[in-house]
Amino acid sequence: MTQHSSTHEAGWRFDNSYIRLSDLFYARQEPTPVRSPKLVLLNEPLAASLGLNPEVLRSPVSTEVLAGNRLPQGAEPLAQSYAGHQFGYFTMLGDGRAILLGEQLTPTGERVDIQLKGPGRTPYSRTGDGRAALGPMLREYIISEAMHALGIPTTRSLAVTTTGQPVHRETELPGAVLTRVAASHIRVGTFQFAAKWGSVEELRALADYTVERHDPEAATADNRYLALLHGVVERQASLLAKWQLVGFVHGVMNTDNMTLSGETIDYGPCAFMDTYDPMTVFSSIDRQGRYAYGNQPAIAAWNLARLAESLLPLLHEDQEQAVQAAERAIAQFAGLYQRNWLSGMRAKLGLFNEEADDQALVDELLALMQKTRADYTNTFRALTLGTLEETSLSGTAELTPWLERWRARLGRQVENAAASQKLMQASNPAVIPRNHRVEAALEAAEQHGDYSVLERLLAALRQPYAYVPEQAEYAEQPERSERPYRTYCGT
Ligand code: AMP
Ligand code: MG
Repeated sequence: MTQHSSTHEAGWRFDNSYIRLSDLFYARQEPTPVRSPKLVLLNEPLAASLGLNPEVLRSPVSTEVLAGNRLPQGAEPLAQSYAGHQFGYFTMLGDGRAILLGEQLTPTGERVDIQLKGPGRTPYSRTGDGRAALGPMLREYIISEAMHALGIPTTRSLAVTTTGQPVHRETELPGAVLTRVAASHIRVGTFQFAAKWGSVEELRALADYTVERHDPEAATADNRYLALLHGVVERQASLLAKWQLVGFVHGVMNTDNMTLSGETIDYGPCAFMDTYDPMTVFSSIDRQGRYAYGNQPAIAAWNLARLAESLLPLLHEDQEQAVQAAERAIAQFAGLYQRNWLSGMRAKLGLFNEEADDQALVDELLALMQKTRADYTNTFRALTLGTLEETSLSGTAELTPWLERWRARLGRQVENAAASQKLMQASNPAVIPRNHRVEAALEAAEQHGDYSVLERLLAALRQPYAYVPEQAEYAEQPERSERPYRTYCGT
């Protein structure tokens, strides 16, 4: 491979700290070159915020970088090791189809991971080919960018290149490489791996590294590892509330797919819920509904308990006291989540202050939505637009009394109706990446090389709270025949 070729005009500015950890945590691994790389998507605003020059990134040399045929200056490629509970079962995993190029220092002084997804085999590939198909990479690009625009912490997508090489799944599919940007790729599973296969010193080194990267204020706490655990619990409680508030179903909340940074990661079988139903599942492999919409907060707490277990040797020298401290930290998740969620729900209803009966007001609305099989996003959109009577809720005996209670409740706060409406508009997305729209965009791109459908969808998703007429078509619910929706993971 051409090493460190003249790619500096692109603005790469690597400073690689992960590689300074024990080599227990990674294997050096270069991407495997591909036949004929072609850039199909580039996230120009993201590139600029990373200090990268979008024009240079569109050059043939940069396309080779983004496809893994060439290394940018300063890259030290590696595959990370980690373990994870997948659907409740513990497994040794690692980056089987991802390679970390390094950490980019941004103009604002942030440090972000630049990772290629689908760049060929690594020592952790097991029987996999280390490759990714175009469809799922485009899907990750769309959904992650939609999540970002919704204000939800997430890994980002910088680019997608096609490889010119097919990947062999159930059928032959075009191959692609996604460039993923993340605050880090440290997962709950990274700590599980360290606890199981590392020494206490190696576990401590990973924890110290994570503190420095994600919880610098914890460094001065009496017990920095407990402070780290609290930090992760807080971030995940906030993240899960945000997912629930927009109706996002992650689909594969294994412990290797949960970050310490609090960013959403790994867009496999994820999707946004149309009809409100807590049992909503999209993943074709989640037959038990373990990762159903309504289970997500409890699963997050379960995953965090796995993190806490991994940290036990660091929490206290007396293991009984360590367990107690861990249990106290995990027990905080439910309350934190609930507070975040209720405060988000108040905003969705246009409420600024708090009243004791708010939870009941929300619960009654959700119950009515479930009973009438209401569209989750469009119900809150209609509430914002004052058109709730035009939704599936109309004609029910419960709607009028609910509306009366809600209006009376709005009347008991100092803020006026216009302020409430503004708050609701900022809290209830008018558009989400609806599955049938995402599929249509992927089909045009995959089948016909037409990216215009995808680009238009992305433009709508970039301003989900805009409430502009051009977006109305993206608010439409799927036709009956397009449900129920299923997604397939691991491709
Ligand atoms: P995921 O369910 O996407 O989080 O992936 C679970 C594990 O399978 C991770 O360790 C991935 O790196 C690995 N993996 C998924 N697809 C492939 C592939 N095509 N080749 C090698 N490893 C893979
Ligand atoms: Mg994963």
